[in-house]
Amino acid sequence: MESSYSYTVKRMRRKSLKLFITDEGEVMVYAPVRVDDSVIESFVSKNQKWIEEHIENVARQNSALEEHVRSIRFLGQDIKVVTGEVMTAVLSSNGTLIVPDTTVQKERRLINDWYRRQAEAILTRRTEHWSEIMELYPENIGISNARKRWGSCSSEKHISYSWRLIAAGRDEIDYVVIHELSHLRYMNHSRAFWEQVGSYCPGYRECEKKLNDLSKYLKVTGWSR
Ligand SMILES: [Zn+2]
Repeated sequence: MESSYSYTVKRMRRKSLKLFITDEGEVMVYAPVRVDDSVIESFVSKNQKWIEEHIENVARQNSALEEHVRSIRFLGQDIKVVTGEVMTAVLSSNGTLIVPDTTVQKERRLINDWYRRQAEAILTRRTEHWSEIMELYPENIGISNARKRWGSCSSEKHISYSWRLIAAGRDEIDYVVIHELSHLRYMNHSRAFWEQVGSYCPGYRECEKKLNDLSKYLKVTGWSR
């Protein structure tokens, strides 16, 4: 089978092949210095389906970034975004997000700031809530711009959440909070760790699935850059 994509190979000191799509929609392969071209070729062929899907996603993402935002995901719900006489993004009493009439880029920035403010308030509250129940207390709670993880917990007991988590439903948020707080007792993903998570959040597997779907949604709607 011949691959129908042109791709760029970058040779480097690494042990395995890595395939990815750049933000411009280019197919890139990172390859170990000595691996044969034919191996790379068949690797790309084998991953055609993945490539197609991801090129499509990057294209959707790029066009989303050029358009005004019409709706956003917040606490698991899609809320409408409308323009109005406001200086910054404001949630109206009927549940729509009002933004000023401005450029696409500025609008995204304002919505992003709004997301972060919500994330800080809500995720802090949920962490304090579960801290009391679990009797596990972080040193502090922060909001990050992490793209690949919803939360993290350091050995200094610092818990941080990606602001993107605020797009998730309440059950998924609570799962991530319970997950990170559990790391205050177990700094690993051992059986004991998962038993503790499961005792506070029996549906955690379902939550993980929903979070995976959410990260795909955030990607194609341009919120993961
Ligand atoms: Zn973990």
